[in-house]
Amino acid sequence: MAVKTFKRGLKLPTRKHATEGKPAETAPAPKQVVIPVNQHFGAPNKALVAVGDRVKRGQKIADAAGPGPMTAPVHASIAGVVKKIEPRTQSNNTDGLCIIIEADGTDETDFLPPLDIERCTKEEALARIREAGIIGMGGAGFPSHVKLSPPPAKPIDLIIADGAECEPYLTTDEALLTEKTTLLIQGLAIVMKITGVNHAIIGMEDNKARLIPMIETALAEVPHTGTIEIGLCKTRYPQGGEKMLITALTGREVPSGGLPMDAGCIVSNVGTLAAIAEAFTLGKPLIERGLTVSGGACKTPKNIHAPIGTLLTDLPPEFIDIDYGRLRKVLFGGPMMGTAVPTAAIPIQKNTSGIVLMTAEETYADAEGPCIRCARCLRNCACKLSPVLMNLALEAGDLDEAVKVGLMDCIECGSCTYVCPARIRLVQRFRVGKGRLRARQALEMARQKAAEAAAKTAASEPDKKI
Ligand code: SF4
Ligand code: SF4
Repeated sequence: MAVKTFKRGLKLPTRKHATEGKPAETAPAPKQVVIPVNQHFGAPNKALVAVGDRVKRGQKIADAAGPGPMTAPVHASIAGVVKKIEPRTQSNNTDGLCIIIEADGTDETDFLPPLDIERCTKEEALARIREAGIIGMGGAGFPSHVKLSPPPAKPIDLIIADGAECEPYLTTDEALLTEKTTLLIQGLAIVMKITGVNHAIIGMEDNKARLIPMIETALAEVPHTGTIEIGLCKTRYPQGGEKMLITALTGREVPSGGLPMDAGCIVSNVGTLAAIAEAFTLGKPLIERGLTVSGGACKTPKNIHAPIGTLLTDLPPEFIDIDYGRLRKVLFGGPMMGTAVPTAAIPIQKNTSGIVLMTAEETYADAEGPCIRCARCLRNCACKLSPVLMNLALEAGDLDEAVKVGLMDCIECGSCTYVCPARIRLVQRFRVGKGRLRARQALEMARQKAAEAAAKTAASEPDKKI
């Protein structure tokens, strides 16, 4: 099988040895869960329950606060009693409203009825994916029902299951490819049916090539229509990025400012596809997920399966043992794109692919130096951007110039920061710059709405004569 790749990017130490090839272990049932009301990219949710309410596992506890498609409900991941509804620090390092449920020791469930993809309409299928609260589990948290409804002007001819998992340390997608192959193929078949696409590729890096015979056997056994093949890519960072995977597997380029649908593709993480299959076959909402817990300050590195809202610190030390004496940094996600958080006592969310507990030796705290114009950041940017120019524009406070030189095309992969000899925290600045840009756009929109409302009021009032 030919091994494909994209231009630029990095050959990183994968640091996956501690959990590679290990089956996912189911976490002991937590005594409480802390479930963020908002876990998706889009419009905010509101809580549907109150303190003191009893909830069943799978019951919807939060949903859209207003109209609009960019929403995804949230469900109770254990049966129990709502103890508190209050802001807590989340994995994106901001405080957000959370529903805290204390387990009551029962396992009463409130799932949706199973739905046969062969007997439902496209609208019913998309409604099921929304009702099950399914979002992209690879990181971005984009609502899946929206991703699977591209506008008619954007014809899709390929579905890509993203199993590349290029972040160091993380091996949860590999565990899923090994243990939930049937669900993955069922999920792909459902997505192909919904979108009317008859070609799909399961994309993965060649450090998982040993899984090919097992996936091929499953492909021969699990009923599906159309063609599903395996696409092998070089182990090269950031191969798991949607744009890089599309280019490597098809040779197509996603245009600047565009999305995968602009290249005729829908890319979905393998975990998301398995969750879609469970939403149909079992009626199960997205209430648990697989993730990797690793790093030098974790004495028990492993792949785990845990209810959404579980705190790592609530798990018994015989299951997850944290070496607090050596712990220097807690990362939600991998070391390249993950978010550093102040504590491990932060809830696992729908898009938490891993928690990395790093020692001082695994991280660096060097002071930033001046840019030496070495161009390493340019040479390694997989998006062919100029990080040094983006940084200069941001340093000058010129957001428009930063956008002009590519800020919004940055996928925040962190490669430029990794290679910069001056240790300039480039990607961190790009994240802040994007945040400032979004805030400016929101302010402009609010001003425009206020001006429109004022004009409307003035037009409806009779002329006032003195
Ligand atoms: S973080 Fe952005 S600018 Fe830096 S290498 Fe990645 S895509 Fe390029
Ligand atoms: S890698 Fe760092 S030092 Fe080199 S040009 Fe880019 S920002 Fe400057």
